[in-house]
This record gives sequence, C-alpha cells and structure tokens, in this order.
Amino acid sequence: MSKPLSLSNIIGHCRESWQMLPDCRKPNNNMRYAIADAALAAFSVFFMQSASFLAHQRDMELRKRSNNGRTLFGIGKIPSDNQLRNLLDPITPDHFHADFDWIMAEMATAGTLDAFRAYQGTLLVAFDGLTYHSSTNVHCDNCSQRKDSQGTTHYYHSAITPVIVKPGSPHVLPLPPEFIVPQDGHEKQDCERAAVKRWLAAHHTRYQPYTVTYLGDDLYANQPGCQLIAETYQQYFVFVCKPDSHVALYSELALLDKIGGMTTQTTRHWNGRYAEISTYRFANQAPLRAGADALLVNWCELTVTHEATGAVLFHNAWVTNHLLAAHNTPEIVQVGRTRWKVENENINVLKNHGYHLEHNFGHGEQHLSTVLFSLNLFAFLLHTAQHLTNEAYRLLRETLAVRRTFFNDLKALTRYIVFASWEALFQFMLDGLELTIPPPAML
Ligand SMILES: [Zn+2]
Repeated sequence: MSKPLSLSNIIGHCRESWQMLPDCRKPNNNMRYAIADAALAAFSVFFMQSASFLAHQRDMELRKRSNNGRTLFGIGKIPSDNQLRNLLDPITPDHFHADFDWIMAEMATAGTLDAFRAYQGTLLVAFDGLTYHSSTNVHCDNCSQRKDSQGTTHYYHSAITPVIVKPGSPHVLPLPPEFIVPQDGHEKQDCERAAVKRWLAAHHTRYQPYTVTYLGDDLYANQPGCQLIAETYQQYFVFVCKPDSHVALYSELALLDKIGGMTTQTTRHWNGRYAEISTYRFANQAPLRAGADALLVNWCELTVTHEATGAVLFHNAWVTNHLLAAHNTPEIVQVGRTRWKVENENINVLKNHGYHLEHNFGHGEQHLSTVLFSLNLFAFLLHTAQHLTNEAYRLLRETLAVRRTFFNDLKALTRYIVFASWEALFQFMLDGLELTIPPPAML
C-alpha cells in the first residue's frame, strides 16, 4: 500500500524538491547534492528538536560508517554548520512554499483536510503575527529595525503565520508564512496588513475550493482587508472588533440598540463549580467605518458572567460576513474564539518547546533567518501530519506524551543506534514499549 505521507516518502519528496534550490556558489560537480543536503540537515535539527543531532550523526559516521542523517533524512554528506549557513543564506524562503503545498495537497487527497472543515463546511484559517528574532546587534540585510526612546536600534524579524484550526481539535496545520519586510513600514498594524495582503494574493486560490473563514485579531478588522476577503476573493472572515478602533461602528450599534435593532439571547451553563451566564448580542448590516462607502458587516459579542457574583469572566466582540441569527451566533462566537488556539498551540510550541531556531546556524547576512524559520514551521507541519496519518507515530506520541519523553527518546536512540528507516525506528520503539497497532476497524 502506497502511503504518500509516510516519513520516508516525504523525505524523498523533499530531497528531490531541494535539489532544485538555487545554488549561488561557483559551479562544481556536487552542487545539486550539497544544496539538498544543507536544507535536509537544517530541517533535521528542527524535526528532531535537537540542536546536537548533526554533531551526533557526524560522530556516528566516523564510528560506524553510517548515520541517521543519511538513513532517516536522506542527507548524503552532512555539511558543516558553516557550509550549511553559506548554502542556505542566499535562498529566499518562498522556495519552500511548494513543499507546504505538497503536504497539504496529500492531506487533502487522504481526506485529512476534510476533517478540519468547521463552520458551514469552511476551513478556518487563523492569521497571527509573530516576532521571532529581536536583537540590538545581530542583524542582516532583511532585518526590520526601529529605534527606542534611548536611540538604540532594535533589529527584528516578524512574520504572519497562518494556521488551519478547528474548534475542539488540539491540532493546527501551519501554512506557508509571509515575512514582514523593512519596506512594509514601522507600524505593527501596517506591516501585518501588508503581509496578509501578500499572503492572500499568493495562496488564497489553493484553499478557495474549500471556502475559507479567515480569523484574526482586531487589526485585521479594517475595511480594505475585509473587502478583499469578502468581495474580491468571495470568502468569509470572523475578526475581533474592539470599540476603540471602531468608533463609527460602535456608535451605529448604540443607535441600533436604542431602536430595538439588536438581538440579545442568554444561555446558562453549569461548569461544575458555579453557573455561568453567556449573553450574546448581535446585529446584521452595520457599517464597519464612517463614510458612505463603508462595508456593511455583521457584529456579535459574548459576555460571560458568574451567575452568583455577577463578575465578568469573559468579554469579546467580532465582525463577520457570515449572516447572524439566533441559532448560529454562538457557533460564530466559538469560531472567533478558536483564533486564540494559534497562540496557545502553534506559537508557544515554536517559542518554548525546543525548536532550536538559529541555535546552530546563526542569523546569516541575507535570508538564512527566514529560511530556517520556514523549515522550522515545515517540521511542525510534518509532525502534525504524522500524528493525523501515521498509526505508529500517533500511538507513540500518545503513549509517551504524558512523560514528555517522545523527543528525548528520539534523541537518545538516534545517538546510539543507526536505524535503517523511520519505520524501523518506530517499530523498535513500539516493541520496546510492548505496543501493538490495533488492526483497522472492520467495515
Ligand atoms: Zn535579520
């Protein structure tokens, strides 16, 4: 049975794809292989979440004349950190978009993407901005910069990192990032808006067949962005909408409220300790901003209070182009709240859980930092794809999750033993843990 999303197959695909990366050195015999080796080597560090993976595999090659860099990641000859830096630095990160797209296409074929369909069958794509490098002295040609009040220059890299989310699912699927470039300006708001516009132009057609509901923070709830999604691309949005940044909208909503144009509904929920009262309010067709050409949007809010004390436990509001009614407003609110998963799941994992960004390889002078960030997100996507499609992987993750030992075990095992394949490595772990993959359910 052919499994396009098996790790061996994915690595094979990457090796083929990355041999075509532009090589900016003077021609020599091994160019093609070296550039693929460099990309695979960087990727392996992120995938293994181990800064010392390559060093261990170089040692192993000396001792055993074989190593897991070759058997698991298809690296012909492990480049030195210095070679790797020089090879990858000139490459722009958009060269890796097609690899994200390939994985998503295979997941679509396997039906895995369909499982992410949420409100009215749409895919929820959450936008979020992330600053992943900030320094007063380490910088490159593509760093953004700002001066603080003391006159010190801060160099940084930010990106929009869209992810597919689903209410109630612990999994998120990272899509290709869009990097904020110095030309985008200095205001966080302008930069993120410009980057989202570029991302949509480059990627929206790929997900259009699914119909997408885009999710995002208050800064995305602006007329040009909403118009682009709703009118130009004919898709949907649910964006947080705060009173301070939407004065005209909120004064219109106050008027509507006065003349009875606002619908209110409440539900009561016992959370095990006390009763929570959820109050939903919504109104359709209100102007997003002042002026005759304002886009008409649908607005809703949720306030959760403690029944006994009256204390406000949660409050937020959103605008959307999904039509609101009493029966669907709670679901739209749930969709809007799913945005926070981006911070909880994706970004925190990237920031805190051992994806060793820049640790080995430095910042580079041109694009290295953005290439490494892209490979890091790609590694994250592959782990999620494995969890969703590979029974052995899922069983191991679920068994070892409690003790958080999955990655530590991978590190230790691949330091001492050369495995012929990912399948052999996973089987070794399953045998050691006396786990058996349950047979597929009978139809
Ligand atoms: Zn930089």
